[in-house]
Amino acid sequence: MTGPPAVPSGAEPSSRVFPTVGPELYEAVRAAGPKRVVLQVPAGLVRNAHEIVTRLREATGVPVVLATRPCFGACDFPSRDEAPLAELAIVLGHAPIPNVRLARATYFVEMREPGGDPRVLAETVALGGVPHRLGLAVSIQHLDLVDPLSAELRARGFDVRIGVGDRRLAYPGQALGCNYTSAEAVAEDVEAFLFVGTGRFHPLGLAYAVDRPVWALDPLQGRLEPPVDRGALVRRRLLAVASVRDARHWGILVSTFAGQNRLPTALALQERARAHGREAEILLFDRLDPRDLEGRAIDAYVNTACPRIALDDGPSYPKPVLTPPEFLMALGERSLADYRFDTYH
Ligand code: SF4
Repeated sequence: MTGPPAVPSGAEPSSRVFPTVGPELYEAVRAAGPKRVVLQVPAGLVRNAHEIVTRLREATGVPVVLATRPCFGACDFPSRDEAPLAELAIVLGHAPIPNVRLARATYFVEMREPGGDPRVLAETVALGGVPHRLGLAVSIQHLDLVDPLSAELRARGFDVRIGVGDRRLAYPGQALGCNYTSAEAVAEDVEAFLFVGTGRFHPLGLAYAVDRPVWALDPLQGRLEPPVDRGALVRRRLLAVASVRDARHWGILVSTFAGQNRLPTALALQERARAHGREAEILLFDRLDPRDLEGRAIDAYVNTACPRIALDDGPSYPKPVLTPPEFLMALGERSLADYRFDTYH
């Protein structure tokens, strides 16, 4: 599976996709001829951002401004207000989210990495005791490994399944921190999942989303990690739910970022809270900072923006923060026995 330079199905016509920062991108920028470009990079690339700005400017002759706010996903690209003069945005490190409306023409540079030798990686998986009925979930940087690694695994007797997700995912098998519907699509057919990529962010998210063991293969280091303990993750969240079952005054968090705004969900949750005799008010923000919630006369929060705020950053906040399905558990509307990840569709 190679990274298509064309627009993935469903994306806006004004978006394009590039595998890396290089001649193909420079040529496209020159051809588009914008008066100004805004570049946004993820936190992990901030150190290289100024050098990339220089390269882009020199290769295209177009002025480039750097958005200092890093992007956590393709959901929080610079708004019109943040970069009013830029006619083109270049967003590094993310695939487009096909069902998110863009603020302007946007080039997504997915920063694809070839990773290690698929034969060696498959051998590592085969020797690691990973179940043979196996679903693959892959971070955007390593999607080019899906086909060769699947072929090598199949040659070793694995029954490999790669699911197609919903309209928030640009590619089959893609893992997005708020949406693992490609994995969910094949969960019934597999005994376990293999996440291919670096870090713990996706293995944790995937473990919340699918009730299957999630192994993690780092394709750069060739390291295979055993599954995270899903039971422990879920128990921790259920404790958070239990701690706020009697909360009277709720804050419902809503982000104004184009790809994180779930106002209709927030309004529906507000209604549910009121139906249970609770107070609930909507709090608007763009990027949430735990300090914004300090000193408020609110007992607990439910977050409709990025689901990972509650799951990964919860302890940084002054009061408990639940996801929408957890909030319905706290109100007694959902069973505690059926934990569900807050999939952002
Ligand atoms: S909502 Fe969160 S997990 Fe989803 S793309 Fe945005 S930052 Fe990533």
